[in-house]
Parts: sequence; C-alpha cells; structure tokens
Amino acid sequence: MSFLLWLLLPVAAASGWLVARHQKRRKPIYLSPDYFKGLDYWLHEEPDKAIDIFIKLIDVNNQTFETHLALGVLFRRRGEVNRAIHIHQNIIKIPTLDPQQRHLALFELAQDYQNAGLFDRAEDVFKQLLIADNYKIPALSQLLKIYEQEQEWKKAIEIAQKLEKLSAKKMPIAQYYCEQAEKYREQGQIDQTQQLILQALHIDPFCVRASFIEAELALENNDYQKAIVAFKRVETQDHQYITEVIKNLHFCYKAIGQIDEFTVYLQKILDSYDEITPVLSLAKIIQQELGEQQAINLIAKQMLKRPSLCSIKSFLALSNINNISNESLVLLHDTVTQLLKNKAFYKCNNCGFTARKLYWHCPSCKQWNTMKPIQGIDGD
Ligand SMILES: [Zn+2]
Repeated sequence: MSFLLWLLLPVAAASGWLVARHQKRRKPIYLSPDYFKGLDYWLHEEPDKAIDIFIKLIDVNNQTFETHLALGVLFRRRGEVNRAIHIHQNIIKIPTLDPQQRHLALFELAQDYQNAGLFDRAEDVFKQLLIADNYKIPALSQLLKIYEQEQEWKKAIEIAQKLEKLSAKKMPIAQYYCEQAEKYREQGQIDQTQQLILQALHIDPFCVRASFIEAELALENNDYQKAIVAFKRVETQDHQYITEVIKNLHFCYKAIGQIDEFTVYLQKILDSYDEITPVLSLAKIIQQELGEQQAINLIAKQMLKRPSLCSIKSFLALSNINNISNESLVLLHDTVTQLLKNKAFYKCNNCGFTARKLYWHCPSCKQWNTMKPIQGIDGD
C-alpha cells in the first residue's frame, strides 16, 4: 500500500493542484511549472526533492485530508519524522476540519513527536486528546509508554490506574512501585523503599519482584528470618521463580544454623516441582553429610525423571570426584560445560527473547514480568 502511495504521489500532486486551480478559476488550466520540476527530480531519481515539491502542490484541505494524513504516517514509518511532523502540523491548521479529523491528525502528530524523542510535545498533545472519548484509552496508553521510557514512575502509576478503570485490563502498577523502590534503594533511602514494596504487594500480592527486593533488604540487614519469609513467599506467588531463591535460602538457613529445616523445605519443593536447582542444592547438603554416592544417587534419580544438561554436568562432576571417571566421561563433562557456558537462563514468554540476566521489563517486546527461568533439557 505504501509503495502504491509513492507511485501515486505525482498524480495526487497534479490532480490536487488542478482541482485547486479549477476551484479558484472554475476551469482547469495548465499544470504548474513546479509540477514538471518535481517530475524531473522524480525521473532523475532524486525522490527527496521531488516529494517536497509534490507535497507543496497538494493543497491541504478536507478533500486531501486523508492523503496528507497517510503521507505523514508513511514518512514516520520510514523514520522521516521531521517530514511527518511538518505534514501533520499543516493538517491541523485547516480551519474547516471536523473534530474527528482534528483528533485523528493530533493523534498522528503526537506519535511523530514521540518517535522524534520530543516527549514534552508528545505529552502535551496526548493530554489534549483526553477530552475526546474515542482517544482516551489510546492517548493514555501512549502517555504510559512515554512515562515508562522517561522512568517517571509516579506519573506512570497515575495513568495506569486510570487505564485500569477504563479498560478493565490489569496494568503492571506493582512493577512501577518496584521501579520506584529500586531508585530509593540505590539512594540509600530504605524506609521509602520498604514503603513502596508494601504498596507493590498490596496492589499485587503475587508480585515476585517485591518479595525479592524485600528479602534482599533483609539480607543486607542480616535479618535472615525476615529474608527467609520473603524468599519462601515466592513459591506461592509464582513457582517458576523458585530456582531463583534456593541459593539465598540455603545461605540464610546456614547463617541461622537450621540446615535441617532447609532440607525439609527442599524435600517439599522436590515433591511438588521438577526443577534441578533444588535437587542440586539438596545434593550439596547430602554430599557433605552422607557422602558423594548418596548425592550421585539423588541426581541420577532426577536425571531419569527430568533430564537436563545441568543435572548431567553435576552428575559427571560428582562421578569424577568419586574416581569413576575415564577419558570419555571427562570429555562428556567438558562438552556439557561448554554447552552451558553461553546458554541463556531466562526467556520471555511473550516474544521469546532470551538473556542470561533476569529483566522485569522485556527489552524486546516491552512487556512486564514475562521473562521466566528457562526449564527443560537446556534449562532448570
Ligand atoms: Zn518479550
């Protein structure tokens, strides 16, 4: 469609100019010399100069409204935002536009500003559109994108609350509170951080990120009991993140001298889920207390139940320690280690983006809380 629009641009320019002349003089006359100049540029493959001339020739009025609007959108999609802005600004100057046309042009102009990084101007225009019922949700959604990009979390929360009421769609408000909390945490303002964490959990009791921050704060404060409560909450919030807390829980229970209790907890987790991390953690404890063979048996059982590269690697490592290794086993161990070396640990459930680091806001599709630890043969 866009290609067709490019081809029709000289035609639109010619007809637009003729119609304008006809309306003024009541009869069609010759084409403007500028048209031939534009055509000359067009034929000599200087499209930029040709386009500027053709656009000037098409009178901006109610009849050519859609052509101008489409051209503006086309320029924006091609990354030529300055041209898009110029065209959409000209449309808005038409005094006879009806409110619907005006709102449509304003919405496109605001998106031009947004794409150009002129967030203040985009924000102003989107706010103007909030009076139009049809544009309330789209304008609020775009404002939210701006505030997310600008990391203005307080404003993002206000807008998201309005959107939730209007669209009945769950918004990532708890994530915005967590973002704010992280900022205060960086500045060492712990009271404000904790306050925001409570707000995040109040608005979304299943917010894993809030539990992580709460537990990390407790850890920094050597409050192991509080950290254990927050880390253990993750299982009930979203068990897919359970592998993320095992190591820290192990540390906390060790710090308070309650490894037995941790072992009971791990056993419960193993009975409920199939992830390898709790198995490896339990194997470590068993290795220290009952010896390598018991640990190998536990991992071997897990390998049969749910094979994964991590379990194979740990099995081989323990086998090596137990002096049952040979050259082939060493080679296999090194190969698996190599395979795991550059492996991503997390994957976005929405777009498939993978990373070795956990992002709460997917860098690819910009969705919140969609990245989860990878499970399966090459995961946990
Ligand atoms: Zn994604």
